[in-house]
Amino acid sequence: MAWFKKARKPISAPEKASRVPEGLWVKCPSCGRAIYNKELAANLQVCPKCSHHFRMSATDRLRMLFDDGAYTEHDPGLRSIDPLHFTDTKPYKDRLAAAKRAGGSRDAVILGSGALDAVPVVVAAMEYAFIGGSMGVVVGEKITRAIERALEARLPVVIVCCSGGARVMEGARSLMQMAKIAGALARLDRARLPYIAVLTDPTTGGVTASFAMLGDLNIAEPKAQIGFAGPRVIEQTIRQKLPKGFQRSEFLLEHGMLDAVVDRRELRDFLANILTFTGPDR
Ligand SMILES: [Zn+2]
Repeated sequence: MAWFKKARKPISAPEKASRVPEGLWVKCPSCGRAIYNKELAANLQVCPKCSHHFRMSATDRLRMLFDDGAYTEHDPGLRSIDPLHFTDTKPYKDRLAAAKRAGGSRDAVILGSGALDAVPVVVAAMEYAFIGGSMGVVVGEKITRAIERALEARLPVVIVCCSGGARVMEGARSLMQMAKIAGALARLDRARLPYIAVLTDPTTGGVTASFAMLGDLNIAEPKAQIGFAGPRVIEQTIRQKLPKGFQRSEFLLEHGMLDAVVDRRELRDFLANILTFTGPDR
């Protein structure tokens, strides 16, 4: 019976890059080295051997940026509803509940205010683990509130972007957030308050098309994927092979889309320097 049957290898799932699996050891997807989890955490989730930047959670990011890891969280209670009763492979409501259970945060951005090297600042850090860091109504509202809070207190704003783009499950409402945040940023600009965008891997879609690229300074972590549409879609549209390193931080820096590429271990000092330099007169 089985004579003519071809023993097929099952299709293996692509290796997930930049995900930190549970356990004591993590294998670096870039150099293959096994890294002790605690060592990785102490090194701000950067591979000590090859400097591969693993993805960082929003809370770790805020802890890393603020002095002594201390900050005040704002609007933690806002959570998404399901206005369109959207269902794809599973209902959006279930997806929201699962995301909350998995990561603990209520949506894909966490706001904090505090001091960064003694400079008071408002920081919004995006959480990729929450439905791909996608921007729905809550993300838009929280970021807008962060900017408005900064406006009121005359503080600079830092947004750490990490997102797959707008949240399809909220349709046009998620797209409206692009304009809403851009409007708030324009007011911040008129008030002559600085906004620094920090782009991390990945920053794509509607987030890139709005606030991620509107910083007074747009800086990125090394080798982060930054773009609007994915490279495969672009290749199919323009029917051309894309150059090597396309949509990576270094490529974008070279082509004038970014102001700097900064290693995560130097990011705090870099931001402190800029904020001191550009900070509002008090
Ligand atoms: Zn490595």
